[in-house]
Amino acid sequence: MGEFDLIDRYFKRPARQADVGIGDDCAIWTPRASHQLAISTDMLVEGRHFLSTVDPARLGHKALAVNLSDLAACGATPQVFFLSLALPRLEESWLDGFSHGLFALADAHGIELIGGDTTQGPLNISITVMGDVPTGQAILRSGAQAGDDLYVSGHVGDARLALEAFRGLVGLPQAIFESARLRMETPLPRVALGQSLRGMATAMADISDGLLGDLGHILRASHVGAVIDWPACQPLLAASQTWPCPEALALTCVLSGGDDYELVFTAPASARQAVLDASNRSATPVTRIGHITSDTQLRVLDSQGQAIDHGLRSFDHFA
Ligand code: ADP
Ligand code: MG
Repeated sequence: MGEFDLIDRYFKRPARQADVGIGDDCAIWTPRASHQLAISTDMLVEGRHFLSTVDPARLGHKALAVNLSDLAACGATPQVFFLSLALPRLEESWLDGFSHGLFALADAHGIELIGGDTTQGPLNISITVMGDVPTGQAILRSGAQAGDDLYVSGHVGDARLALEAFRGLVGLPQAIFESARLRMETPLPRVALGQSLRGMATAMADISDGLLGDLGHILRASHVGAVIDWPACQPLLAASQTWPCPEALALTCVLSGGDDYELVFTAPASARQAVLDASNRSATPVTRIGHITSDTQLRVLDSQGQAIDHGLRSFDHFA
């Protein structure tokens, strides 16, 4: 099997929304009227973003999920995507698993693979996803206002907990480990919630590098600070519902763990009911964990209202 057979066999499917999909020099696609394009790209490198032993179907899911998460964070609707693959060798069982995981998530979101590039080299997966958002309605990082409520979606910290277990730094009961691992390997991009928060959330980001770090991006872009209520955050760690997680580990996982791909967002206090409605409409739980302040500090308070000196940093590839 050569490069073009590989593309035909594993990645080419009948074009749907694209005018021209895989097979020509360019893909041709017509975005909807009165919409702006929303485009994001993310690369996954073996050994850096995933373990070489990961199940290829889960890897296919995750490679697309991390990209969809960026569109979710802007309130955009994903439409089409590109896949660039460097593969060390042509391994059919790997391609079969990878493409199934990838297309299962693509189909769940009704999006279409319309092109890419394939080359031999160290395993590297790069996806570019394109979507659209009604003109002027994208949710940016820069809109948070003092007094806004601070929310996160779903569960936060379990991906880090799984990583700690993989590294042998914590021993977990098997069932806890498997569900934390599932969160790390198959995150669910919060696309429906992101769209339903348009016109409501003042700022939003997805949590890829850790809650404190990704919230920090919002705070810097908006020139504001935040107070996080740690007791409100504790239930975010799904594992802690059935396993007594030590406090210091819970702090690390929830506040600085990465790879959760949940949304962190701000909204005016007057929009509390609307946020709950959006959460229900999108079947995505949200938790209010604090508020935005006019100073530029980011503080985490314990149940007594005392600042926790967590000393935590979020993930930075070059730090
Ligand atoms: P070119 O030589 O013009 O760069 P290629 O020969 O690399 O084009 O690719 C041929 C066609 O296959 C193009 O439409 C390209 O977008 C598509 N393609 C290549 N690799 C992939 C891939 N991994 N997934 C989806 N489409 C791909
Ligand atoms: Mg090419």
